[in-house]
Amino acid sequence: MRVTLSAMADARFTKGLHDLGRGCWAWLQPDGGWGWSNAGLITDSGQSLLVDTLFDLRLTAEMLDAMRSTVPAARSIGTLVNTHANGDHCYGNQLLAGARIVASRASATEMDELPPEALAGFKDNAAKLGPAGEYFARVFAPFEFHGIRHTPPTETFDRELTLRVGDKDVVLFEVGPAHTRGDILVWVPRERVLYTGDILFIGGTPILWQGPIGNWIAACERIERLQPEVIVPGHGPLTDVKGALAVRDYLVHVRDRARECFDAGLSPVEAARTVPLGEFAAWGEAERIAVNVHTLYREWSGGKQGTANPLQLFGLMGELERAGARRGG
Ligand SMILES: [Zn+2]
Repeated sequence: MRVTLSAMADARFTKGLHDLGRGCWAWLQPDGGWGWSNAGLITDSGQSLLVDTLFDLRLTAEMLDAMRSTVPAARSIGTLVNTHANGDHCYGNQLLAGARIVASRASATEMDELPPEALAGFKDNAAKLGPAGEYFARVFAPFEFHGIRHTPPTETFDRELTLRVGDKDVVLFEVGPAHTRGDILVWVPRERVLYTGDILFIGGTPILWQGPIGNWIAACERIERLQPEVIVPGHGPLTDVKGALAVRDYLVHVRDRARECFDAGLSPVEAARTVPLGEFAAWGEAERIAVNVHTLYREWSGGKQGTANPLQLFGLMGELERAGARRGG
């Protein structure tokens, strides 16, 4: 019997552990917005592999407790894979002390550059940072960055790596730089289950921190070719290939509409305020268009435009969010 999304007994978007069948699990965190990431567990013959930790120690400990009480193989997790460097996928790593921790080489470098201490400092100073600080402090209010010890991968790879969990193959495909510098997909071929990290946001707006956007579009099309039957996205409910194609469609839409602004000589800030989102305006955190447009401008201008720093980007996202609320959209 195959695992398919439509055949699954429990595909609801509820917090906690979801059994995907035959030793594959998802940990889901509604509502999938800023910091509310998903994780995964792959088990076989008493061995287990964790896909991603969560944004802070409390959330990660809660997840590990639930996994250990439900899945005997999770009592000793031998391998942790981080799909990319964003803190909501790796700041809980220290709770896996002693495990083999695997990420792409590019992600490991990026993790060293934005350790939890940096985010804790940014949040502490948010009140002094104007509108950017207000937005940042509000979206990250639920998470505690103090007391987290930066715990980097113990092992890195480029392009592709196959791991074994009991008798299962688990294949890591590097598809970044895209969302971040070193994004990977985690593929369980025998079960046709795919963990995508933030290559897929479902119901929320994808955020292009790094680019080039062509790599991200290609990653969505690679997902289609793999023909997974169940996909655990980085954020949002379980999905299947349709979810990957919806993200691809968003990226193509934004690329084409932003390019019109670029060719017309609009600044990236003007473009962020102007680009029509069409059907995608209903996705959560639509204001991430601010970051997406800046990254595209950097790509198209060879780094001359779109160079706003994170503080400016968070400020602009806050502005766009308020404007959206005033429009009622
Ligand atoms: Zn994330």
